[in-house]
Amino acid sequence: MIPASAGQPATGHPRPPGDDCRATIRSWRVEDGEPAPPTGARRRVARYRASCRACGDEGPIRSSEGAAVEDACDHAYPGWRTMPVVEPRPYKLGDRPRWEADCRRAYPPGWFDRQGPVREYRPSGGTRHVPAFAPGGGYCMAVMCTMPKPAPVRTVQTSLFG
Ligand SMILES: [Zn+2]
Repeated sequence: MIPASAGQPATGHPRPPGDDCRATIRSWRVEDGEPAPPTGARRRVARYRASCRACGDEGPIRSSEGAAVEDACDHAYPGWRTMPVVEPRPYKLGDRPRWEADCRRAYPPGWFDRQGPVREYRPSGGTRHVPAFAPGGGYCMAVMCTMPKPAPVRTVQTSLFG
């Protein structure tokens, strides 16, 4: 059972501007029964759930925020998992207009106007799906890609005098 205090979306998550379905999740904390050192107080852990404000659809309760975000995107943006993977969102503000234009060219027209998510290549770490980082304010979904380890560079001593 979800506690009554569980009705508010987690801070920083995109809010739907209209009546269309959007990727929105709720989060709350529960005691998991395990005593946490050093006080022995029961540990509290976070729980997450996709919860569409437009139609009332709710996903399963998850212990992972990322899983709940994916549930929410499955509901509001069917097909998002097959959308193109783009390069990481630039840190420099000046580089973002080009990145956003590239995203809009790669995705269906209107996708980002509905706060659709963008799938972003992450070369290492950073597995969190980041709210409000997609071009239209939707989620930036982490897609982990492992780069092949570069072949060792062999140095060959050539003759200096011959
Ligand atoms: Zn909905």
